[in-house]
Amino acid sequence: MFDVIIAGCGPTGAVLAAELRLHDVRVLVLEKETEPVSFVRIVGLHIRSLELMAMRGLLERILERGRRRPAGAYFAGIDKPAPEGLDSAYAYLLGIPQPVIVHLLEEHAIELGAQVRRGCAVVALQQDADGVTVELADGKQLRTRYLVGCDGARSTVRKLLGVGFPGEPSRNDTLMGELEVGVPREEIAARMAGIRDTDKRWWLRPFGERIYSVVVPAAGVSDRAQPPTLEEFRQQLRAVAGTDFGVHSPRWLSRFGDATRLAERYRVGRVLLAGDAAHIHPPIGGQGLNLGVQDAFNLGWKLAAQIRGWVPETLLDTYQAERHPVAEDVLDNTRAQTELLCTEPGPKAVRRLLTELMDFDEVNRYLIEKITAIGVRYDFGAGPELLGRRLPDIDVKQGHLYGLLHRGRGLLLDRTERLTVGGWSDRVGYLADPTAALDVPCVLLRPDGHVAWIGDDQRDLDDHLYRWFGTPN
Ligand SMILES: Cc1cc2nc3c(=O)[nH]c(=O)nc-3n(C[C@H](O)[C@H](O)[C@H](O)COP(=O)(O)OP(=O)(O)OC[C@H]3O[C@@H](n4cnc5c(N)ncnc54)[C@H](O)[C@@H]3O)c2cc1C
Repeated sequence: MFDVIIAGCGPTGAVLAAELRLHDVRVLVLEKETEPVSFVRIVGLHIRSLELMAMRGLLERILERGRRRPAGAYFAGIDKPAPEGLDSAYAYLLGIPQPVIVHLLEEHAIELGAQVRRGCAVVALQQDADGVTVELADGKQLRTRYLVGCDGARSTVRKLLGVGFPGEPSRNDTLMGELEVGVPREEIAARMAGIRDTDKRWWLRPFGERIYSVVVPAAGVSDRAQPPTLEEFRQQLRAVAGTDFGVHSPRWLSRFGDATRLAERYRVGRVLLAGDAAHIHPPIGGQGLNLGVQDAFNLGWKLAAQIRGWVPETLLDTYQAERHPVAEDVLDNTRAQTELLCTEPGPKAVRRLLTELMDFDEVNRYLIEKITAIGVRYDFGAGPELLGRRLPDIDVKQGHLYGLLHRGRGLLLDRTERLTVGGWSDRVGYLADPTAALDVPCVLLRPDGHVAWIGDDQRDLDDHLYRWFGTPN
């Protein structure tokens, strides 16, 4: 009997496993593939995800394997630098190959004690009052108290639950791959310079000696289980660029669509959904992996508290209440960005207008805070502006705030030095007189770094400790 089985060891599943292990939950991750994926898609980690990695002491090893880039120019690819003074110690984007980040996250989960079994596809599930029976493709059955489907866009767990996945089907497919080119680099640059000004949906980027990363719109929508052919790449390049650049010898070829869908529910009894299993959208703006990782940070400590029997059911339900609206917002912003990439006169005029508007600092800041998820504010009820937001990595007398959050516990920052976390001290740390950078008397932080309470009254604090961390010892 496991406490939690996670279906899928992508970025969402790996982070969730690590978060659960911080609370000694017995976790098994089942991954249907025997080997990690072979194709190397570079993904961007945005500010909030970098902050979360710093909060768990993971950022150093991730930075070593990625490349820092400026934080701006990600909203619909509109070429504007990020505004000055973004409120984060990690105000950049980290480009990193997806297999590398997944490997690092999986390694971290295993170091913390998670079990990962490869070549194990979940094919059926049955839940009752005490747990969930999970059936694998080879007929083997496993028993767990909770199951989380982190099994990607075509989630078997979501389908088995019968959870609706409404939204729009793919209207446009895009071909993506790594290929060798048959023409000199200068010729490619010159050809791209002219046409890319009017059509942002395709590119060739050098990726090592003679190898290029190639992205080009497909001729139509087709079954994504079938990889595209080299001939399709050639045809489509000729259609947009007037030449196929002599592409040949592909390392890998794939296609992706722009379907936009959101699961109706994130929880059915003892089974939950996270990451692409719960939401899909076009990759414009590079938010999907970030959104899944942030789901996992929201869910991990709540599920652990439920398993440890500390909290009432209602805490676990805040996972959907908090994360569903965030995903809705990401889906909407990708819909908007997709429109802004259209080559018809109307969308192009709107793009020009938005480009002008982004010269206003507030507009630029609003969009970047949205896409990097540092603007997320959960609804914890009425209160000061900071309530429900994440606290940046401020300097505290003991060093950096995030350096104190590696264990995944809550934290009380107490400038009054009068309050106490009492019977919650196994779940919540305490920091007296932390910093002058806080302009409020006391802040209670959740394990995901969001501000759960602001005040200076012990009784009020106790109510909130109970709300978020359950029964005291
Ligand atoms: C071209 C492109 C570029 C992108 N760029 C970015 C970017 O820059 N930034 C960003 O944030 N996102 C980006 N994304 C999106 C990102 O890749 C996904 O959102 C992310 O991989 C989702 O992670 P996940 O763990 O939820 O799901 P997945 O990565 O899909 O992982 C799911 C895992 O579950 C396994 N699995 C499936 N079914 C089962 C089963 N039945 N049993 C057991 N295991 C199973 C799969 O093998 C897989 O390992 C991009 C996507 C595309 C297509």
